[in-house]
Amino acid sequence: MTGFAMTVDGAAVPGAGAFDVVDPATGEVFAQAPDCGADRLDQAMAAASAAFPAWRRDEKRRRALLREAADALRAAAGRLAPILTAEQGKPLKDAHREIATAVTWLRYYADLDLPREVSQDGSAEVIRRPLGVVAAITPWNFPIALAAWKIAPALRAGNTMVLKPSPYTPLTTLAMGETLRAILPPGVLNVISGRDPLGALMTAHPVPRKISFTGSTATGKRVAAAAAEDLKRVTLELGGNDPAIVLDDADPGQIADSLFWSAFANNGQVCLAVKRVYAPERLYADLVEALAARARSVRVDAGTAEGAQLGPINNRPQYERVAGLVGDALDRGATAAAGGRPIDRPGYFYQPTILSGASDGTRIVDEEQFGPALPVIAYRDLGEAVERANGTTYGLTASVWSPDPDRAARVAAELDCGQVSINAHGRGVRPDLPFGGHKWSGLGVENGPWGLYGYTELQVLVGNES
Ligand code: NAD
Repeated sequence: MTGFAMTVDGAAVPGAGAFDVVDPATGEVFAQAPDCGADRLDQAMAAASAAFPAWRRDEKRRRALLREAADALRAAAGRLAPILTAEQGKPLKDAHREIATAVTWLRYYADLDLPREVSQDGSAEVIRRPLGVVAAITPWNFPIALAAWKIAPALRAGNTMVLKPSPYTPLTTLAMGETLRAILPPGVLNVISGRDPLGALMTAHPVPRKISFTGSTATGKRVAAAAAEDLKRVTLELGGNDPAIVLDDADPGQIADSLFWSAFANNGQVCLAVKRVYAPERLYADLVEALAARARSVRVDAGTAEGAQLGPINNRPQYERVAGLVGDALDRGATAAAGGRPIDRPGYFYQPTILSGASDGTRIVDEEQFGPALPVIAYRDLGEAVERANGTTYGLTASVWSPDPDRAARVAAELDCGQVSINAHGRGVRPDLPFGGHKWSGLGVENGPWGLYGYTELQVLVGNES
């Protein structure tokens, strides 16, 4: 694939250099992306800055253009989805689904009515003003959906943006920039690409007033530290180690399918995937077997292959990390009820893996694996399971599985995280609900009016009463 350019000030521009992009289904380089460089970054920031005064003024126009952007993105799905599959690895139908998600988010924010906020006595108005230029940085698991989570509320609120995707998946975002270039005024959305140091240059840059970051907790902390230098505002959507707690009245056969896909969708490369299952001793063997049966039956193949349900892991370091965590658990006495090994073919394919016999204190339980391997942990006492579920620095989402909704809700109330689903996982990921993590899983939220407010600063306007 060729012809990928950055979008700066409404024009297609090359980088100072270029870097390779690898197809994870083959392990081979298949394209090049522009490497932005510091001068081009300055141009992008200057363009975003120059576009801000006009963009912030006309909300009606912003809403209309976001609607047009949604239509254009939807129309471009046939072109964008194969690029997403090639660089990310996900099956083509999932790539289409991701682009559809981005369209939904753009539409939601275009349509969202925000109430006027006035003091109780009506004498003052509280107004949410845009901040200015937003630097947006995204990861490689859902490059387009997670970019739309930022673009839609930030632009709707009246900000302008410089957006940088992950160096593992830059191409679809660059192609989306090209699509939106035809609709948004020059400088409103600038899309650049580069390796990790470009992200650091963005967070240290004097122009942006806000950093919106989605990625790992380790990088998120570096972003927060850089932003503190000149008190840039931050929203951080970071890692998770989401627990699923199965109660003793659940039916393993009934929940296994939903639980399996809550852990393995996108090959486990989801911030809010189920990353550890706590199951009561009584149901343990049945649940492990029900999950393992699903893992064995899944079709893992190149994202372009008809019928593929899971693709490869996105990149070599992540593939090696997952293999390392599974190997460590097996060395420490865990058993692979399904999988447990790489798949013998080129590219970064790994068998969907269900681990039994691993417990807290094993790396794959304590750390975020972010891949197709799931430990199932036995518990005797529910209180102890809740304690272990909370016993982590993460706090993104969780789930409780039981036919008794009141009992499940009582357990949910004990969990320290940003969202709990009952008999599902991550069901609250919707444009209209706040999404964010407790503890080291993040700072601030995305989505809904709350997400938009994160791209604003409050200003009180008091009328002249004389
Ligand atoms: P990462 O932190 O390695 O990279 C994310 C982005 O940050 C990339 O664009 C990268 O180039 C950039 N970056 C790297 N170093 C930087 C620096 N010093 N300053 C600024 N930017 C820098 O994360 P990843 O491996 O791409 O993504 C996987 C992680 O993202 C997982 O931990 C996952 O849980 C998390 N994630 C969280 C959410 C959420 O909403 N909470 C969603 C998706 C992924």
